Amino acid sequence: MPLPSLKDRFAQLLALPSVSCTQAALDQSNRPVVELLATWLGDLGFACELQEIAPGKFNLLASLGSGPGGLVLAGHTDTVPYDASLWKSDPLRLDERDGRWYGLGSCDMKGFFAIAIEALLPLLEKPLRQPLLILATCDEESSMAGARALAEAGRPLGRAAVIGEPTGLRPIRLHKGVMMERIDILGQSGHSSDPSLGHSALEAMHAAIGELLALRAQWQKEFNNPQFGVPQPTLNLGCIHGGDNPNRICGQCALEFDLRPLPGMDPQALRRAIGERLQPVAERFAVRLDYQPLFPAVPPFEQAADSELVRLAERLSGHSAEAVAFGTEAPYLQQLGCETLVLGPGDIACAHQPDEHLELARIPPTVELLRGLIQHYCL
Ligand SMILES: [Zn+2]
Repeated sequence: MPLPSLKDRFAQLLALPSVSCTQAALDQSNRPVVELLATWLGDLGFACELQEIAPGKFNLLASLGSGPGGLVLAGHTDTVPYDASLWKSDPLRLDERDGRWYGLGSCDMKGFFAIAIEALLPLLEKPLRQPLLILATCDEESSMAGARALAEAGRPLGRAAVIGEPTGLRPIRLHKGVMMERIDILGQSGHSSDPSLGHSALEAMHAAIGELLALRAQWQKEFNNPQFGVPQPTLNLGCIHGGDNPNRICGQCALEFDLRPLPGMDPQALRRAIGERLQPVAERFAVRLDYQPLFPAVPPFEQAADSELVRLAERLSGHSAEAVAFGTEAPYLQQLGCETLVLGPGDIACAHQPDEHLELARIPPTVELLRGLIQHYCL
């Protein structure tokens, strides 16, 4: 079967829904998307391997050429959920208007795979000195389970990896980590007229919050990186639920908060520090206190400014490498020994919302840039 045109590939990828979501009712398989990619890449001579990460969830590793080294062009095949009624066009149908391609995943980031294929087509005739790998992961938007599984398996992927997340074609070599955590306090309810009848979970939480804010102040004094728009690590108290009536001692209270560590801060060490500060609170208030992550942390990411990949991408894109505020799969690929960079054609400002789109003008420079990377690493 002949390979569809760039626009048809783009449209076919968008037409296959692949929402990943922590709410099971909205969560979908990404299998049709990786199978479609495997069909195209297999026809082009790639060896394609589908790895099942969870029921219905697959990573695709498609490689051309063999041996160590080489380049990985990587991305995620899932999208966030969508509300079709808020879109001007069908989110699953590619719509071209105003010099843009509209559709769910056009920018973040199924469209990247269609463009990456465009970049490699004219290079297929030449024998590769080092392999080219197209990596398509699952569940980036919900749990990062696809990239995490690759990191845990530990199989080296290549010398360099570029993740085509929306960065407006600017190379990104730093981002903060993402941690979301929960504290549950179980006290003892009782009549409000006599504090000795209970143990207030709410007052214990008040003390726990005091500890968190003290840690935040300490970390913000210790860590600062001016390359970020917000140069300090952040800790946000996101939501709190506890108690029911003014005349009852509060028996239960739960808090969820988010932490964004800078490169150089280890999520596990931060968790240990939090745990150590919370334990005395539990003892002082005679309550049960459980502290749990809501999901495994996305580590902070930094690729050295003077690394080969950063230098090359800066030259090819005409931009110095920067930092972004969102988390990506980059730290996991880096753990596998790849110099790693985030660089893709979309704009993050239109991701995760109705009328997501890709500017058509971004496509030719993306094709050129990816072709330059492939030539450098594989030919
Ligand atoms: Zn994305």
